[in-house]
Amino acid sequence: MMVAMDTLAVKTENKFRSLITKQAYTKGEIICEIPTEKLFDKANRYTVQIARDKHTEVGKLSALNHSCDPNVILDTERLLMVARRDIEKGEELSFFYPSTEWEMDAPFICLCGASNCIHVVAGARFLPLSTLENHYLNRHIREMMIQLLNNTEGHLTQLLENAEK
Ligand SMILES: [Zn+2]
Repeated sequence: MMVAMDTLAVKTENKFRSLITKQAYTKGEIICEIPTEKLFDKANRYTVQIARDKHTEVGKLSALNHSCDPNVILDTERLLMVARRDIEKGEELSFFYPSTEWEMDAPFICLCGASNCIHVVAGARFLPLSTLENHYLNRHIREMMIQLLNNTEGHLTQLLENAEK
């Protein structure tokens, strides 16, 4: 299967880029594949994190803005961009950055206006579980979160053991 990005257009306004769809999609529909030709071990502005130490340059998709109530999902296991809800022709596409990014290269303040806005977009590791559990999260993010929690538990055990000595 090959789903190209022909239906997507990058719009630039006052140096601010956004990604617009030239066609409508229904919820669950595949929009395009996530490119993986250029891989990096560190995040930059043009990459999406697809595994613990793997960041892929995503071409046009780097114009995707963050939203706390997004209309697309980046599935980094199937390497697909999927409609999270019905999307109209001409709509801007957006995804929840912490669903792929553990620690971002360039954090920023979100002004999306959603009632569940997280305000500081810096990566999943900076968000409480109670926030993350309301979002689609990719496997590498879930795994890194579990590891972080296990480390915390390990530290606590150590503290308790030292206290008993
Ligand atoms: Zn927001």
